[in-house]
Amino acid sequence: MTDITELNLQEIAAALRAGDFSCRELISAFYENINQYDSIIHAYLSIAPELALAQADRADEQYAVWRKNPSQSIPPLLGVPFAVKDVLCVEGFACTSGSRILENFVPAYSATAVQRLLEAGMIVIGKTNTDEFAMGSSTENSAFGPTHNPWNPDHVPGGSSGGSAAAIAARMAPVALGTDTGGSVRQPASFCGVTGLKPTYGSVSRYGLVAYGSSLDVVGAIGKTVDDVAMIFRQIAGYDPLDATSRDPDSNQSHPSSDAGGSPGKELSHIRVGIPGEYFIDGIQSEVRDSITRAVGVFEQFGATIKSVHLPHTEYAIPVYYLIAPAEASANLARYDGIRYGPRMSSDTLSQVYRRTRGRLFGDEVKRRIMLGTYSLSAGYYDAYYGQAQKVRTLIQGDFKKAFEEVDIIAAPVSPTTAFPIGKHADEPLSMYLEDVFTLPANLAGIPAISLPVGSDKLGLPVGMQFMAPHFKEQVLFSVCSLYQQITDYHKEKPGILTQPDSRQENST
Ligand code: GLN
Repeated sequence: MTDITELNLQEIAAALRAGDFSCRELISAFYENINQYDSIIHAYLSIAPELALAQADRADEQYAVWRKNPSQSIPPLLGVPFAVKDVLCVEGFACTSGSRILENFVPAYSATAVQRLLEAGMIVIGKTNTDEFAMGSSTENSAFGPTHNPWNPDHVPGGSSGGSAAAIAARMAPVALGTDTGGSVRQPASFCGVTGLKPTYGSVSRYGLVAYGSSLDVVGAIGKTVDDVAMIFRQIAGYDPLDATSRDPDSNQSHPSSDAGGSPGKELSHIRVGIPGEYFIDGIQSEVRDSITRAVGVFEQFGATIKSVHLPHTEYAIPVYYLIAPAEASANLARYDGIRYGPRMSSDTLSQVYRRTRGRLFGDEVKRRIMLGTYSLSAGYYDAYYGQAQKVRTLIQGDFKKAFEEVDIIAAPVSPTTAFPIGKHADEPLSMYLEDVFTLPANLAGIPAISLPVGSDKLGLPVGMQFMAPHFKEQVLFSVCSLYQQITDYHKEKPGILTQPDSRQENST
């Protein structure tokens, strides 16, 4: 019998309708994997099997009624489970953001993105690990311990949505929500050999998201395939009166058509793929370069036109991002003062309550960013740092605008390296920041980008590649990348933990 945790969303939905298996069986299969692997991987911060199985039983009843009268409508993804990064509120679940300062915080409502998936009939399987307040590239900054990469648990899964990406790779959920402020969906997807979408800024509501860098934050999806993340995007995208930055994009552009397939050669012959020289710098791991060159060859073979493009301000993305994101974070995190959310350190005076609560319950990276951000926003320095960064950000946006006059999509690495060993950058925040060099520009420009597996290195760790498109052109990414996944099999490869669980046990001891 097929392993139901290997199916894509369309197959799951069809099988549930046909009654090939029940929602209870489906959700139980994912919990079995969680029981088997999550003691090693630590993708989840909390799970709710009893609640999820009770919801599965209700979904099974709805299917039974529907089968007797199929002319009725039922929610499109009824009974399909999903995981949620722990920076998004889910009513009744703790929302820690990977931080001690929110350890006991249980929100009274669900984020709009979560709510829309619930309305589509989906069921929350659990909340996934994240770098504290989504600040990091490895999930090592979680106050609750790191997540391990299912391809090799001595390596990081990437971050900050490392729990979500690892959960998909280890088949502990079929899809998951993540967030991407500077690469946090794409880079962990790349490190874990799965597919991750960072939508256009403003296309998905952030209501109910614990804010990090508000001019950059976007809610995205991680899954096994492009079609799966496209399906989730279709459910979560759209205007929300509760998020003033959310925009109702033109429905043709934001809603992927169901027939993204067709003849690959024909489809790709219309596509112009841009290759930015600035993303193929020295120091990029040779297997990353080789895998991407091979993938570009596949596009060319199927008729796409490959053109070189220039994004000359790429080198400024790291300094610009690491001024803007911490500045916005320092303002966003001011609310965690021990009074309104989470635990409180008591003391004699109010200012001491603030100081002790924040001093003890924020982790080092969060404190570093608050200090960086407060400094760059301070009187006398604002223009030189934050103001200047905003000007350079405009230049980066201009680079993309110009490039997209010549090409439909831009292809690039996600990260200069494959997943690095846990602890590699532990004492060098700057070297960790450098890992983000290729993901930050899409956030600074607000454009959509998708990461998908295109190969592996000599240790067997996955290599990811990203495609970027103009604002609200997710559909172009979906159709082009879905075709790539019809032609190739990289997205079907499975981490060793699933194929040789016994050897894994030996390694972990
Ligand atoms: N690694 C980047 C950072 O630490 C991006 C994180 C993110 O996208 N949330 O800020």
